[in-house]
Amino acid sequence: AIAVLGSTNMDLVAYVPKAPRLGETVTGRAFRTVPGGKGANQAVAAARLGGEVVMIGAVGADGFGVRLRSALAAAGVETAALRTVEGPSGTAHITVDDEGGNSIIVVPGANARVTGLEPGDDRRIAAAGALLLQLELPLEAVLAGARAARAHRVRTILTPAPAQPLPAGLLAATDLLVPNEHEAAALTGLTEPHRAASALLRDVPEVVITLGAAGVLYAARGRDPLSVPAPRVRAVDTTAAGDTFVGALAVALGQGRPVPDALRWASAAAALSVQRPGAQDSMPTRAETDAFAAS
Ligand code: ADP
Repeated sequence: AIAVLGSTNMDLVAYVPKAPRLGETVTGRAFRTVPGGKGANQAVAAARLGGEVVMIGAVGADGFGVRLRSALAAAGVETAALRTVEGPSGTAHITVDDEGGNSIIVVPGANARVTGLEPGDDRRIAAAGALLLQLELPLEAVLAGARAARAHRVRTILTPAPAQPLPAGLLAATDLLVPNEHEAAALTGLTEPHRAASALLRDVPEVVITLGAAGVLYAARGRDPLSVPAPRVRAVDTTAAGDTFVGALAVALGQGRPVPDALRWASAAAALSVQRPGAQDSMPTRAETDAFAAS
């Protein structure tokens, strides 16, 4: 199984011709509420691709919490370790303008209440083949999860997003780090992906840097780096492309696929997701991904 220790957010998306400036009011064209959060997105991606997935985290005691939990359950994610805590669920307030540009306010809500592991979490992590982590929960919880996984020799896969300084010890407890190129640059001060990857290999044994339409760069200690190009597709919405990639990679590696094969399959899944609007809605199934990867 794949365990995810991470965030759940309701995305509140307003579509506007042009984003308002400070003090300005604009009239929007449309509004949507869609389940999101990097943790939940990775969990849904992995589940749709055939992974057995356990979500650890928290939703609030509000209507959003009910919907966030049911969206995970509908995708086949086990939610028994997803707590309902007092107060509001996490929300992301997103403005999308006619050029496709966006600005986002994330209010962590219930996610901020996840400050460590609860009884039962350690057992769930120990039973998993991999633990997926991101940085939308309090860092002490991320660190506790990574250390629990390490203690049980469970592979930890960390998406260091949103970019921020990491607590001492987090990279030391990480097996596979999957930053995008901006996060890799933020962590290392190096904008060239090969150089950033080499620098990161001082702290973690394996790195995948995602490069959007340019594909991915894989690096591991003592091996030649490997570039895997992305399939050429027409992207309409790249929201959660990185989360789809990570969820897919965890599924493929969990099946024991060799790294180059796993990277190609995860790239196929991510390329399918960018051709459709939405985050969790846009994630492909296993059958679709197998067919696209073979084409
Ligand atoms: P993030 O979504 O976290 O910013 P990236 O933009 O690097 O990360 O995208 C993650 C992965 O999604 C890429 O490595 C690639 O596999 C896939 N992807 C993103 N954009 C495209 C695109 N335009 N065409 C094909 N694949 C894409």
